[in-house]
Amino acid sequence: MKVIVRNLAGLILWLFFSTTVSALDVGSDFKRINIKDICEAFVANESFLNSPDVARELITSQQWQPCSEVKLSRGYTKDRLWIKIDFTNHNLEVETAYLNLFPSWISEISHYHFEGSTLKRWKNDGIAFPFHHREIPSSNIVLPLINEPGKPATTLLHVQTDLAFLIGGTLLSETEALKSGVTVNLINGILIGAIVMIGLYNLFIYFSLRDSNYLYYFLYNASMLLMLSVIYGFGYQFIWPDAVKFNTFLESAAGPFLGIFMSQFVRRFLDLSNVSKALDRILVFFIAGSALVVVLTMLPSLNDKTSVWSGVLAIIGAPVVLLAGVRALLKKQVSAGYFLVAWALSLISITLFGLMITGLLEFNLILFYSFGIGAVLEMLLLSFALANKIHVLQIEKAQAIDAVLQAEKEKSRSIALAAAQLEHKVSVRTHDLAQEKRRAEVLARTDPLTGLNNRRAFFEKGEKMFSGVRLSAGGKSLAVIMADIDHFKKINDRYGHSVGDVVITSVALKLLPCFLGNSVIGRIGGEEFAIAIEGFHFEEVVAKAEHARQMISQTLTEIANGKDVTATISLGVAQFSSEDQNIDETLARADMALYQAKEQGRNRVVSIP
Ligand code: GH3
Ligand code: MG
Ligand code: MG
Repeated sequence: MKVIVRNLAGLILWLFFSTTVSALDVGSDFKRINIKDICEAFVANESFLNSPDVARELITSQQWQPCSEVKLSRGYTKDRLWIKIDFTNHNLEVETAYLNLFPSWISEISHYHFEGSTLKRWKNDGIAFPFHHREIPSSNIVLPLINEPGKPATTLLHVQTDLAFLIGGTLLSETEALKSGVTVNLINGILIGAIVMIGLYNLFIYFSLRDSNYLYYFLYNASMLLMLSVIYGFGYQFIWPDAVKFNTFLESAAGPFLGIFMSQFVRRFLDLSNVSKALDRILVFFIAGSALVVVLTMLPSLNDKTSVWSGVLAIIGAPVVLLAGVRALLKKQVSAGYFLVAWALSLISITLFGLMITGLLEFNLILFYSFGIGAVLEMLLLSFALANKIHVLQIEKAQAIDAVLQAEKEKSRSIALAAAQLEHKVSVRTHDLAQEKRRAEVLARTDPLTGLNNRRAFFEKGEKMFSGVRLSAGGKSLAVIMADIDHFKKINDRYGHSVGDVVITSVALKLLPCFLGNSVIGRIGGEEFAIAIEGFHFEEVVAKAEHARQMISQTLTEIANGKDVTATISLGVAQFSSEDQNIDETLARADMALYQAKEQGRNRVVSIP
């Protein structure tokens, strides 16, 4: 949509500009006599008309042929031509008729005619002379032919052209002669207006976007303008009217110039080095060749030969560019479609123009302007193509940025996910490790056989309890009990070690409920247990010990094969003394009491208060 609006704006600007430039007088209705139908001619490079006799000899020469049958210069030879026009002026009021030559691709024209018996030579005309030299300042060459009304007269013209010579022209009255060229100016104005507008429009875009595509387009457009101003004569008429040598130079050089900028535009527009390296290289050679032709054209000795070379270059260049467009289209360049249509139009128009120049098609105004119309259409289509290309590029760029952003987002999302997963794994693992550590710690302090505190744990916890008592001495009391299974060796010996283990476990389980409250029970040796208990009077502790002893001695312990065993224990009880430095000292007294219990016959409690 944007592209359409932008191009419509360009089109409106162009229409406005082209109408202001071409707002000249409108053509009149001439009574035309086409001189081609009444003239005779022959090719003769020497001009030898230096006396009336020679002129008469020339007029009566046998070489004259009707103009329509003469082999004319087509721009690649510089043949000169004699033209003879015999006509009678039947208009009694008009003494002077004007010969209006169109197209005016005539370098030099000498112009003679008889007034009575005297030979009159007019001043030379043609584009080899400054424009201001013209007697009638028209884009066409307009020559006065003075002719006594009612009498036949002969006019001789010696013509030389750099471009093709197409004998075209009309006989006009004076008023008509003064208006001649108006149609040409009008059409030329529209052509320049169109080309200039499209060119400037794209130049402005170049200044705002700084994309070299637009710059190359503008240069191509400018060289096209140069080409048109040479072909249609408005350069000579309006822009460089006095620079005749420059104009002659451009007649041969404008083509190669156009070739250079067209090729450079095509290379950039189609991104040709990426589409086809070979075609790109051919166009580089083409550019170099065209530049060489431009340089050689500057040498006066070669000037008249180089127009043939530029023709050859154009014949080589056109299919290469066509092929480049097709290759780009095959590579899915959307704008290459526009390009191909533009180039095809241009080729058609150039071909029509060429057929007219070579004489294969009869001259007419549409054929004459086919090149210019083709150029305008080509430039307009290329402008569309350019806008389309830049639009597509912008979309592609936006899509690429989008894709990068999307990928970036995806990436950071997956990184975050991985981080979260890792964090989860670490926390699970940390938790497991902590649990394992706790389990290991518990195991390190637990007796594997009975599940009671082991020796190490008992002393740690007992020491803690002991230091607590010391700090708050007085209110609480701490007592320690040592218990040992009596004659355990015998149990082992009689029933085996494993039964011994069962007995140890059974004693441990029976001890536990007897010492509830603030107490620590541990297995500190093979069949030895220690108990630290706090918060009771000593007598109460002794009673608990006694209760435990009875419990154990009165209950059976079932061993394998339905047999039971009775085990007894001896217990020594000691009370905390303020002189004790650590729990070992209290325990030592309990051990002493235990020893006494063993001594006194076992299965009893001995206490040392
Ligand atoms: P006393 O009444 O004087 O204590 O006699 P006793 O046989 O119990 O003698 P003592 O306490 O010296 O012997 C303890 C025996 O206990 C020695 C050892 O073989 C045994 N023993 C030590 N640890 C274990 C154990 O974990 N399991 C078993 N089954 N036997 C053990
Ligand atoms: Mg023992
Ligand atoms: Mg024992």
